[in-house]
Amino acid sequence: MMVDDEPINIEMTQAFLEEVGYTRFCSTTDPAQALRILRVVRPHVILLDIQMPAVSGFDILQAMRADETLRHIPVIVLTGAVDSDTKLKALELGASDFLNKPVDASELVLRLRNTLAARAYQEHLTYYDRLTGLPNRQRCLDEIDRALRRAQRLQRTGALIQIDIDRFTQINEALGPSAGDTLLQQIALRLADRVSVWSASHTNPETFEVPQLSRLSADEFMIVLPQLQSIGSVADLAASLREAASTPAYQIAGHEVVVTVSQGVAMFPGDGSEVDQLLQHVGSAIHHAKQAGRNTCQFYAPELNARAIQHLSVENDLRKAIERNEFCIYYQPKIDLATGHLSGAEALIRWNHPERGLLGPGEFIPVAETVNLIVPTGSWVIREVHRQAVAWHTAGLPAIMLSINVSARQFAQADFIENVRRVMAGGGMAGHLCFELTETSMMEKPESKIEGLKELKNLGLSLSIDDFGVGYSSFSYLRRMPIDELKIDKSFVDEIESSEDSAAIVIAIIAMAKSLGLATVAEGVETEGQARFLRENGCGDCQGYFFARPMPAIEFEEQWLRKTAAFK
Ligand code: C2E
Ligand code: CA
Ligand code: CA
Repeated sequence: MMVDDEPINIEMTQAFLEEVGYTRFCSTTDPAQALRILRVVRPHVILLDIQMPAVSGFDILQAMRADETLRHIPVIVLTGAVDSDTKLKALELGASDFLNKPVDASELVLRLRNTLAARAYQEHLTYYDRLTGLPNRQRCLDEIDRALRRAQRLQRTGALIQIDIDRFTQINEALGPSAGDTLLQQIALRLADRVSVWSASHTNPETFEVPQLSRLSADEFMIVLPQLQSIGSVADLAASLREAASTPAYQIAGHEVVVTVSQGVAMFPGDGSEVDQLLQHVGSAIHHAKQAGRNTCQFYAPELNARAIQHLSVENDLRKAIERNEFCIYYQPKIDLATGHLSGAEALIRWNHPERGLLGPGEFIPVAETVNLIVPTGSWVIREVHRQAVAWHTAGLPAIMLSINVSARQFAQADFIENVRRVMAGGGMAGHLCFELTETSMMEKPESKIEGLKELKNLGLSLSIDDFGVGYSSFSYLRRMPIDELKIDKSFVDEIESSEDSAAIVIAIIAMAKSLGLATVAEGVETEGQARFLRENGCGDCQGYFFARPMPAIEFEEQWLRKTAAFK
């Protein structure tokens, strides 16, 4: 950052610095604004003019030295005065170097480079732990402060996970200090590895900031998660770190050392809007974990513990559900409103949980999404529905359209299309399968979706936009996307008879779909009145409890498919 009241000086310096590669340059010609900008920008180095009107460079230096957060920023003073008094005074006030005006370009680069190198070394000493190489307590506090303020500003949630090694004092005494250090280094290494593996699979590099691990004190570590997907994802990371820290046992100086850790979690800004408060709360959570017998994790907000435990058990069971064949598909009939006949069915996943009974997707699809199990689960659904379609076809039953829900994450997989192609190969059923993608997921970077949609169409599949009406679609993208059907969201259907707005929206969606040559389906139809309204206003198909609930394949076959076959 450069502070100089002469714009021409700034322009020339900036142009020169950019040429040699220093591109992150900011400046002000108003010395009265300098401190305010400094606090926001926190530059790596300041080029500071001394002779300026109203507020001089000395004033700024003095104010910086009095400010805890600005004190350590190196300052190179630019002075037209050659007298040594000015220079001495600047050095006394904490300037790290000075340059005479007019500034000589090569000298400027040299000074800058030296100053930045010194700063980097200084920073490493100040902010990193010598034993483990991790960021230290000071750095961690800065990081928490930064993450907290961003979370408040962007209205999102983050979390702190503190990790304490159980009974470290005893272990350290038994091993001796140097073996104790080796143990700490190995623990730090395992935690760092696990955090980076977890980040790679759980953080979207475009939108999510990666978690940061630091060492708070001898046997305390902290992870700052700047942004979370769910409570479950914190619980998941904490459990994974607990496992990494304790298994396998450590081999130190010929001894096998068994280590466990206790963990506390605090969420921000919910559990505290100041760094101190958050640290206090994460400390109290860890205290509870120790009281609960150590080797466990506790959330500061007690109600979150139950949710985290449930999430974890769902996750563990979910991992085994596919191989144990616990998923099944229910089919919900779709009715052609003009004829009243069966026109298709939506495939909806269910989980036959060994202890908890039949679970609907609401109880496990969100977990599957956060722990990356949606891809294998979703592929299973596609394989299963395809198998069923072939089986019904082979049995000579009418070939109706079967719709499959596809999650955005699944669609985003690089090998998604290839996998679909492989599943469909040789079955000849693509013309009887439709993929439903939600409007919200399609309209997020719609440009990037078009190619994938086209490839699916080329395989012969139909495409439907699910939950339509809630996601602010762009008309121009709708026109460019190779889709066949809009599925009007249940929330509008619910209110068709009670809200004129909803009725008007439904009519508008049907008209728009017609103009784009798309079919319409209304979902969640529960009453005769809703069905009549939809028929009178030209909606194509209907689906909902009024006609039938989702049912097991065998029931759907007997009560619907075979009857359709009979009167055809
Ligand atoms: P969705 O795609 O909007 O599916 C429609 C949901 O509405 C289904 O809930 C269905 O049982 C329910 N429903 C249908 N008619 C009525 C009605 O008249 N009244 C009421 N109150 N509800 C009705 P379900 O089966 O619990 O599925 C919930 C959501 O889970 C689905 O919403 C879909 O987003 C997701 N899902 C289901 N199966 C899969 C799957 O195989 N893969 C993925 N990624 N998501 C799935
Ligand atoms: Ca659907
Ligand atoms: Ca839907």
